[in-house]
Amino acid sequence: MLAYLIAGVFFILALRGLSSPASSRTGNRNGMIGMVIAVVTTLVTHDIANIVEIGIAILIGALIGVTIARRIAMTAMPELVAGFHSLVGLAAVVVGFAAWLNPGAFGILNDTGVILPISRIELGLGIAIGAITFSGSVIAFLKLSGRMSGSPILLPARHVINLGTLAAILVLIGVYAVSPDGGAGEGWFVIAIAVLAFIIGFLLIIPIGGADMPVVVSMLNSYSGWAAAAMGFTLGNTAMIITGALVGASGAILSYIMCRAMNRSFLSVIAGGFGAAAASGAAGGGEQRPYKTGSAEDAAFMLSQAEKVIVIPGYGMAVAQAQHALREMTDMLEDKGVDVKFAIHPVAGRMPGHMNVLLAEANVSYDKVFELEDINSEFAQADIAFIIGANDVVNPAAKTDRASPIYGMPVFDVDKAKQVFFIKRSMGGVGYAGVDNDVFYMDQTVMLLSDAKKMVEEIVKSID
Ligand code: NDP
Repeated sequence: MLAYLIAGVFFILALRGLSSPASSRTGNRNGMIGMVIAVVTTLVTHDIANIVEIGIAILIGALIGVTIARRIAMTAMPELVAGFHSLVGLAAVVVGFAAWLNPGAFGILNDTGVILPISRIELGLGIAIGAITFSGSVIAFLKLSGRMSGSPILLPARHVINLGTLAAILVLIGVYAVSPDGGAGEGWFVIAIAVLAFIIGFLLIIPIGGADMPVVVSMLNSYSGWAAAAMGFTLGNTAMIITGALVGASGAILSYIMCRAMNRSFLSVIAGGFGAAAASGAAGGGEQRPYKTGSAEDAAFMLSQAEKVIVIPGYGMAVAQAQHALREMTDMLEDKGVDVKFAIHPVAGRMPGHMNVLLAEANVSYDKVFELEDINSEFAQADIAFIIGANDVVNPAAKTDRASPIYGMPVFDVDKAKQVFFIKRSMGGVGYAGVDNDVFYMDQTVMLLSDAKKMVEEIVKSID
């Protein structure tokens, strides 16, 4: 018990460390120490049936984990996270079924040989939350990896269907908990709870549009935590209850913060349907609008002359892996006395903190990296807004076009800068929300059409 508490303290220290890029490595290390303590304590203090089998399972899992971690591209991280969440959900369902099939082994039988009512509630909730997490995460994985359309799929009367199914799950858990024979004769209770929960997980995520996916990823993270906590109750494992609650609560807080950052209400995200108009303003559909293009030499000259430059990185920087070249470029500009700052939008890239991780990897100093609300007022004094692979997060349609799928999301006021350099590969490519961007066509915008890494490397060569 004491060892589990110590592990819990390490997990809390891990979360604390992860709250700032500077301390995130220490945070990760603390999390790993906590997990080792929790696993070793469980193995030592429990009557483990076959330690060799468990050892082999850990080894196989570790091998798969290390291989995936080494191979995965940074840009595919969100779908990987969604995939892993689905496994946590599935594990909760499997443990729930194991406890239901062999309650004696879990110590959840009362004197008359039926499952304790409280354990039936835990079991029902664990299976329900686990199944919702599983099917919801699978849909999020398919949407994020492009295997399923990112646009919302709206069923008629979906709110009624969703609320009805949720209510049915809760009623089933309640009836199962109070049934006098412990639900033994009604095996179908547990199966029905699982089936309905699988369906609701699917129904909850399909109507959520691509633009809301950041919130969905962190929401599923939260669900997977609660599923683990419910599983902890069934297994009587304190460490799992603590860890699950920490993941559940921090995921919920992160979802709330992301909703606030996108100016969306949490309830409207959950209700779904956002992003339905994604195609309405899509690029390429209407008449051609004039825009200016420039070369690396032009950009190098203007950047060297500037007093203040604000860099806005986005998903394209991650795709191109341009962060190292970008750091080299900004170092050279600073040597010339240019004031360079980095502006990070809370949903830039494809996962929370995506840009922070990449800039930290390239050793960009943390004190040059600013959040949206801290830097947005500075664009009015900036000579150059240097947009590298970002798109939706600078799209003014979010402020002006009510029909736009990103309407309401706070965006960087790049139009206030004296000049804008916009790096992307072609005029045809759109951002995640799939909409055209007026910034391309502004008088002060120069499009630098190229792969981000290639373009920045050329700019570096041209800065003398
Ligand atoms: P966007 O997805 O809006 O835009 C990416 C831009 O990068 C495009 O203009 C694309 O244009 C360009 N690009 C792609 N590859 C390259 C390359 N190799 N070199 C240069 N440019 C490239 O990115 P943002 O970061 O601005 O916005 C993030 C979006 O993702 C938001 O809509 C957000 O809601 C969503 N999202 C965020 C998540 C999160 O947690 N952060 C999770 C899921 C979604 P082109 O193809 O022409 O090169």
